[in-house]
Amino acid sequence: MAKATTTIRQVLTYQPQHAAWFVANQALFNRVAAFYFEVIAAHEKLLDLSAREALTALEKLTHATRKNPAPIMPLSAIAEAIPAMFRRAAIHAALGSARSFYTHLSKWHTRKEKAQTRGKPFKERPPVPPRTWNKSATLYTGQWRERTPSSILLKVWTGTCWSWIKVRITGRELPLTLASELDGEMGSPSLVRRGNQWYLHTPIAKTVKKSEQIVTQVTTNEYTRICAIDLNLDHHLAVCTIQTVEGTILAIHFISGGRAIYGFRKKLLGRIARNRRKTGMLAEDERDNVDLWNKIRQMDEHLAHLVSARIVQFAAQHEVSLLVFEHLGNLKPTKGKYSHRGNSKRAFWMKGCIFTFAKYKAWNAGIITSRVNPRHTSRECARCHNLIARYTADELAEGYAPGAPLVLCPQCGMQGNADRNASLVIGQRLILCVLKSQEKPSTPLLAEREEKSSGVAICQEAKSEEEPSIAQARHAECNEHGTARGRDVRMDVSLLDIPHPLRLFTE
Ligand SMILES: [Zn+2]
Repeated sequence: MAKATTTIRQVLTYQPQHAAWFVANQALFNRVAAFYFEVIAAHEKLLDLSAREALTALEKLTHATRKNPAPIMPLSAIAEAIPAMFRRAAIHAALGSARSFYTHLSKWHTRKEKAQTRGKPFKERPPVPPRTWNKSATLYTGQWRERTPSSILLKVWTGTCWSWIKVRITGRELPLTLASELDGEMGSPSLVRRGNQWYLHTPIAKTVKKSEQIVTQVTTNEYTRICAIDLNLDHHLAVCTIQTVEGTILAIHFISGGRAIYGFRKKLLGRIARNRRKTGMLAEDERDNVDLWNKIRQMDEHLAHLVSARIVQFAAQHEVSLLVFEHLGNLKPTKGKYSHRGNSKRAFWMKGCIFTFAKYKAWNAGIITSRVNPRHTSRECARCHNLIARYTADELAEGYAPGAPLVLCPQCGMQGNADRNASLVIGQRLILCVLKSQEKPSTPLLAEREEKSSGVAICQEAKSEEEPSIAQARHAECNEHGTARGRDVRMDVSLLDIPHPLRLFTE
């Protein structure tokens, strides 16, 4: 079994002076966490212990009791009378940061040694321990009580003393029944600041069915269903195809909305540009047009949530167990007006968001996400893997017009929508890459399981080392990943020649 965590965010209503207390409380939490990070740094061996053992060892080193009157590095040196639960929450925060830092450091050492043994220059800088601490204070049981759907009592450091305060909770409610394990388990809430507002974040951990590894799924069951997604910068934001490992195409779904968001951003970016012309020079770290920027960001995030939810919903409807995306690659700089350049940059950023959101949403639905090499996905024929011609409806079906909506394969005659073709290729690439890794046991497994410590997200990266059979023509330089140019995709023209019978075009 595996865990999936959802965080319930609730807005807190409190008296004005309480905001200052929350700030003091968080500052103290970070001071204690930073202190424990130092203690761990002085006793690196602690990290080999389990969380529970490390906690005991750290308390022995720092906390004075009757049995242990003179600890080596007393916590009382930085703060007196820290409640035990506050201390433990800070210790766990410090342990988490320390584990992350030392893992990064050891990986850096490995890379450095590797480069040195190969005689290559190594310029990468080593990771540094956190310079500033800005963690939200976690409230362990004992630091809060009497939680109802509309209020909670919190024990906070006011800057001078510890005090219980009652705050009102509004916003999303906690799931009512957390009685059985299937409904989820409530974790410790934390006090989180966003802007000038304080929130209560409560994690709910659910147990979900653990999915088989990609390799097992692909090699043991030829009817395993895969949902491959081609993400675009405009018009069709996502094109999803569902296929089985043995190659049957079951369904396809186009998610549009790219043009609407482009227009929305264009309007606001234009407004920002006009405002900037009026204001002239800005101080170095002065932020301008804050509201407009926020509006754009919120809209992008909102749409990314909608699209990713739709992708996962579509995949779940078709009983898919694997999602496949392509790696994002780099943003190709675009020419043109400020609003256009800004627009592509944000569209690219949104693509990343859609992937990230889809990954955790899929995980919650028991679906694993993976990514494949994006090279030439839009230039390859999904049926015979030869180089295709890409064109618009009023042109001859020759050459490669990046971003054009239609494709034709001169070898096998496959004809159809360019994004659909790319999406199919993405799915096939994963299967191909897994099967290849199985044929050659001497090479390291290409699709490896990578589990985050939180256990929330699993991402399996499946990279194909081999280039696809086409050697010609690099990927479209100016139009990232085959985005449909601002024209209608004329599906009716091309439907006849699509190789597989089952189609489901929904928009
Ligand atoms: Zn072909």
